Amino acid sequence: MKYYSLNYNSQDVSFLDAVRKGLAPDRGLYFPKEIPKLPKDFFNNINSFSNQEIAFKVIQPFVGKDIPEDRLKKIIQDTLSFEFPIVPITETVATLELFQGPTLAFKDVGARFMARSLAYANEVKKNEKLTILVATSGDTGGAVADGFYKVEGIDVVILYPKGKVSKIQEKQLTTLGENITAIEVDGTFDDCQDMVKSAFIDGDLIRNISLTSANSINIARWLSQMFYYFIAYKNRIHPNKKLAISVPSGNFGNICAGLVAKKMGLPVDQFIASTNINDTVPDYLDSGTYSPKKSKPTLSNAMDVGDPSNFIRIQKLFNNDIFKLKKILSGYHYTDSQTKKAIKEIHEISGYIADPHGAVGYLGLKQFLQDSTEVYQGLFLETAHPIKFIDTVESTLKTTVPFPERIKGILDRKKSSVSIHSYEQLKTFLLER
Ligand SMILES: *Cc1c(COP(=O)(O)O)cnc(C)c1O
Repeated sequence: MKYYSLNYNSQDVSFLDAVRKGLAPDRGLYFPKEIPKLPKDFFNNINSFSNQEIAFKVIQPFVGKDIPEDRLKKIIQDTLSFEFPIVPITETVATLELFQGPTLAFKDVGARFMARSLAYANEVKKNEKLTILVATSGDTGGAVADGFYKVEGIDVVILYPKGKVSKIQEKQLTTLGENITAIEVDGTFDDCQDMVKSAFIDGDLIRNISLTSANSINIARWLSQMFYYFIAYKNRIHPNKKLAISVPSGNFGNICAGLVAKKMGLPVDQFIASTNINDTVPDYLDSGTYSPKKSKPTLSNAMDVGDPSNFIRIQKLFNNDIFKLKKILSGYHYTDSQTKKAIKEIHEISGYIADPHGAVGYLGLKQFLQDSTEVYQGLFLETAHPIKFIDTVESTLKTTVPFPERIKGILDRKKSSVSIHSYEQLKTFLLER
């Protein structure tokens, strides 16, 4: 499989080269030359396969010969070492929990798959040490830190805004040590993001260190998110009903992976892009005009994105035909007060405790089911554990969220970070390590 740049001004590359580079040299996103179709048989017999077997069949054509089959199987085994349960909310609505991984966010799967693919690339290519530089508003940093922890040949440097991530998130970033360095920036998430962008175009840095990113533009992170949709299909509760899946969306990497899965033949009938007030895509689906906006802060902060970087991939999948796209993709957007009401409503009808992102997904699904004349089984993705948004959830429900066993003890670990307040300090740190 080859990948080309969506700016059409770089050479085609193989899977591992695209993973190492992140962005193409012309700053375009990589996109696969073709989307392979899986045989009907595979879907008819999907119940007889384990999650790992399904993931292997799905991703292998995208990896091609770059990773030997045995090694790819091992990578998948390590990546999918936890469950993806479906929990019923009403007769026709259920949630697919994607937060059972080590950092309690759905980003764990992408980060783990990418880390292990890069580790293999380093072994065979004996490349110079790679430094991964990421900015985080909370969730990405933890998943990347955990996914890359102790991976040979890779250093990870994570920038986060001082005082603007939750206690748990900060501990996830700052307590691992080894090859993971947390940099606490006296500023906002946008400041962190700007510093990362400056580093990638800084000649002094590029000449001295191999820098890459680990956000959802990286094909290893993006494509491995397809696994969720195949697993959801396998475990769906009403196999005879049409299936609609609502995805709480920010940068649109996750839902784009779902749309690739559909293109491969996965029988999902409808996708719903559910957003907070950062509604660039729902607005585009309504008006036909794509107008990026400045991001606005909300309770579902992992979706505070005003110009989703993966949307260009979605447009490519549908050859920029908005009419084709609208047949499969609906979009809805919600305010914080609607989100809190939804957290309450879900709890009242089922006892289930949703996080603000899942609640937005629930609202989009509910709206779609109401607007539709046909009967669907509806699934909304739960992308984070409610404990990560404990303040919002507990004040909304007036109840305590149980602390998950697997992160007990994290609050007692000792924080270690480097404090900076300017890009020059970041540059000096990177050059002098
Ligand atoms: C990253 C994230 C999202 C948004 O996913 P995209 O792929 O960027 O659309 C939604 N919910 C949570 C909890 C996240 O961390």
